[in-house]
Amino acid sequence: MQRVKIERVESDIHAIAQFGFNEADRGVYRQGFSEADMAARQWVRDRFEELGMAHRMDGAGNVIGRYGPAEGPDSPPCVIIGSHLDSVPAGGIFDGVLGVVAGLECVRVLKENGIVPAFPIEVIGTSEEEGRFGGMLGAQAMTGHVTLDWLDTARDEHGFMLKDAMKAAGLDSHDVLHAYRRPEDIRAFLEVHVEQGPVLDTEKTTIGIVEGISGVFKWNCRLIGKPDHAGAAPMNMRSDALMGMVDFAHEISRIIDEEGTDKSRITIGHVALKPGFPHTVPGEADFTIVGRDLDEEVMQRLSDACRRVLSSIARKHKLKFEYEEMSWLKPAYCDEGIRALMERKVQELGYSYRTMPSGAGHDVQFFCNHTRAGMFFVPSVNGVSHAPDEWTHWSDIERGCQLLLECVTELACGEDVAAGMAVSG
Ligand SMILES: [Zn+2]
Repeated sequence: MQRVKIERVESDIHAIAQFGFNEADRGVYRQGFSEADMAARQWVRDRFEELGMAHRMDGAGNVIGRYGPAEGPDSPPCVIIGSHLDSVPAGGIFDGVLGVVAGLECVRVLKENGIVPAFPIEVIGTSEEEGRFGGMLGAQAMTGHVTLDWLDTARDEHGFMLKDAMKAAGLDSHDVLHAYRRPEDIRAFLEVHVEQGPVLDTEKTTIGIVEGISGVFKWNCRLIGKPDHAGAAPMNMRSDALMGMVDFAHEISRIIDEEGTDKSRITIGHVALKPGFPHTVPGEADFTIVGRDLDEEVMQRLSDACRRVLSSIARKHKLKFEYEEMSWLKPAYCDEGIRALMERKVQELGYSYRTMPSGAGHDVQFFCNHTRAGMFFVPSVNGVSHAPDEWTHWSDIERGCQLLLECVTELACGEDVAAGMAVSG
């Protein structure tokens, strides 16, 4: 069996962590199309070059290294190993980067063992996954989920336009549309990522095979009461908007018990009280509700229940209830054949594993309805991510890379291909 070498993976992760590293909070600042982000992309291209891979940056800023048969009209479909190179502000060193360097290590191992795959392997560092401009630009572009209108109008939270950010990075936003890849040119998409949650670490399990990415709905809600004097208004004569919101918060676990599953999540993540003055009864509570589940019908039941419960609470507290659904993203399911392959390989390797949903969004979700896509997680210590103290033990990184190598070898080298995984067309 070919083995990955963890020292090389470790050294790659530390090298990329230098791009956008902030000494003060020890976090990584590599937001999409920033200087640090583009420098990290160049660093990865230099590694492609070292490995003798054909490489390019596409119109969306994705960096693509290819090992095996060259691109051309008759070339077989490729197996993609991809994840993102950008980070959130004050992010960690593993988020996204792991999925790219794991791909580099797979190619390195195959190459040093003289194995040239029948199906090309592409290692891709996707662009702007963390949503600085509100999407997952690189993955969306590759799978045809970008419109010109959005490219022309998207801006970040400081009002900085996507097209200007791309221009500063030497890219033309209209070229994003050239990054599209046809499904028939892709044999599979694989992503390995840190879990970013506490499940694997708590259970002392090494690998989490992802069933799918939970769908998400987001509401902006408003409870409107009366902003009375906090001394003059008796307790039983108030219309206190905060009390209504808090009653709803207490109902969330019951809503999930009755209408949801163990994969359901409902979160009030942002709250603003008006007028927000210590001596005034809150006349208005503005808050967000974000709900998730892996099943769209369950999402519907959760959202119906939220509406019902909020309406009845509003009546009880003499409040007016308004809401606006800001977004509704459907769940995306990983391919059963790829999941079965991952499961068989993880059993052969003897690592502990479980299947699980991904509550967080990832590049893979756009490939789910585009090609056969699969993803697995390695543990995040204490579930920490999107923070400087994000950590994954090197022994777990090593196992994740080894599992990826086993999967990609089978998919790209065409030997012992799992049932139902034979190349189509
Ligand atoms: Zn990520």
